[in-house]
Amino acid sequence: MNDREIVEKLEELECQLEFYQELGVDFLVSQSNAERLNKKETGQLIHLETTDNQAGDEEAEWERLTRQILGCRFCPLFKMRTQAVPGEGNRKARLMFVGEAPGKDEDLQGRPFVGRAGQLLTKIIQAMGFDRQQVYIANVVKCRPPENRTPKPDEVKACSPYLVKQIELIKPKVIVALGKVATEFLLQTTRSMSELRGNFGEYRGIPVMPTFHPSYLIRNEGNKEIKKMVWEDMKKVMKLLET
Ligand code: SF4
Repeated sequence: MNDREIVEKLEELECQLEFYQELGVDFLVSQSNAERLNKKETGQLIHLETTDNQAGDEEAEWERLTRQILGCRFCPLFKMRTQAVPGEGNRKARLMFVGEAPGKDEDLQGRPFVGRAGQLLTKIIQAMGFDRQQVYIANVVKCRPPENRTPKPDEVKACSPYLVKQIELIKPKVIVALGKVATEFLLQTTRSMSELRGNFGEYRGIPVMPTFHPSYLIRNEGNKEIKKMVWEDMKKVMKLLET
């Protein structure tokens, strides 16, 4: 690494530490901790725990599902998309994040949460001691609504079976619902985010932590309280993952 690269790395670290400070992160999870959280009691990494046959079947199901999403025309959003965004990450993750729908960057790249809100989510995931490859990230709706508007109920209805199938295949130990659309779908409620955030609900027996969407944090950048609330929610998630 040359001097310039070292300086850039240090600046990047400084930015990250500033962000952690704003969140109110009072500790950092070490890599070994993160590895521990991703293991079951047997000590084996979860993604090694399926038999060859099971793994083959699941692989085929994932392929089928991804193909269906990429070619889907079930709702009018297919007309406006560059490409559908199925989701990405560890297909055996214990922790899953569910957002609303792809935005402009996601639509162009075909990956979830890669724009500004995505960068913020990545920092939150890292503050929890994980990296993006260790968790699974998806949206309720897989194609970008025009001008990033909120997906309509009919669009959620048409698209949500894909998310249902993803959750069924991943079987996460805990889901974080990012924002109103994900929370309403997973918890089948219309109560406000302020009422719901910070308390676990349940989706088919899986604990769901509703919290604010990263784009809401960006829209309220000056409000440190909101960042702290999100971090409090994530601490509860981390605690649950430790059990
Ligand atoms: S948003 Fe979902 S249901 Fe609508 S076209 Fe895209 S993948 Fe299909």
